[in-house]
Amino acid sequence: MNIVVLVKQVPDSGLERQLTEDLTVDRDGSNNVIGELDEHAIEAALQLQADHGGEVTILTVGPDSATETIRKSLAMGADKAVHVEDERIAGSCAMSTSKVLAAALKKLEWDLVISGAESTDSGMGVMPYLLAAHTGAAAATGARKIDKTDEGLTIEHQTDNGYQVLKTSTPAIVSVWDTINTPRYPSLKGIMAAKRKPLESWDLDDIEVDASEVGTDAATTAVVSATKRPPREAGKVVTDEGEGGKDLADFLASEKFI
Ligand SMILES: Cc1cc2nc3c(=O)[nH]c(=O)nc-3n(C[C@H](O)[C@H](O)[C@H](O)COP(=O)(O)OP(=O)(O)OC[C@H]3O[C@@H](n4cnc5c(N)ncnc54)[C@H](O)[C@@H]3O)c2cc1C
Repeated sequence: MNIVVLVKQVPDSGLERQLTEDLTVDRDGSNNVIGELDEHAIEAALQLQADHGGEVTILTVGPDSATETIRKSLAMGADKAVHVEDERIAGSCAMSTSKVLAAALKKLEWDLVISGAESTDSGMGVMPYLLAAHTGAAAATGARKIDKTDEGLTIEHQTDNGYQVLKTSTPAIVSVWDTINTPRYPSLKGIMAAKRKPLESWDLDDIEVDASEVGTDAATTAVVSATKRPPREAGKVVTDEGEGGKDLADFLASEKFI
């Protein structure tokens, strides 16, 4: 089973993230990493490959700096990678990004695409559905478990209250939550091997996408303003001077907790 894993380079969510003047994410000033859920997608692909064979290909649409995260994905154990990199893609909305990813997928051989359920920067959670629409593959999203069967795939789709078991044929696009596995750390051997693994760089012409369909001018959405979350206010200390229980209950009632 050939698997393509979608890996997006994102600013580290553990550090403070900034927007630039045009309200896009400041990627130059950030410590960029593999999207957190995408690491789980890579691990899921490697586990399926260990049991069922086939190739694991990493696919990234992103700037030059994304090469670093692609190499880390290869160091985890993926076989090869494709980096779609073209200045004309900068500022693309999710719709345009999906056109680029779909065009790249058209040039690759795959039975299954695995992505994160949402990215940790824009976090729209739409890419698997958009790609299913573009490619005609099934969308089985929000997985906490993926099993290959003779008929196709069985997926445990995580919900707020538990999970649903879905069956699908392939080709399919499956997105994953962090409950699916614990991603492996790249070993030293893996890091050394990654340097020799094939990494192709494609531009818009290679995937036959017209430049008028991508970039800021073609964007279907724009960030018009952004407001930082206010800093947390200091908590209220209830000192027990005989009436502590009552004071605590009054406070909880005033905040409508009880
Ligand atoms: C409101 C808004 C603000 C935006 N702001 C910025 C910005 O400041 N700077 C900027 O550069 N872009 C920005 N974009 C573009 C945005 O980053 C892309 O549209 C993005 O690739 C898709 O959106 P998402 O990450 O929210 O997708 P989601 O649907 O949340 O992503 C789900 C999964 O799809 C895969 N995936 C998503 N994008 C890629 C990719 N590029 N390559 C490989 N796999 C991918 C990953 O596996 C990811 O876990 C913005 C878009 C919108 C709509």
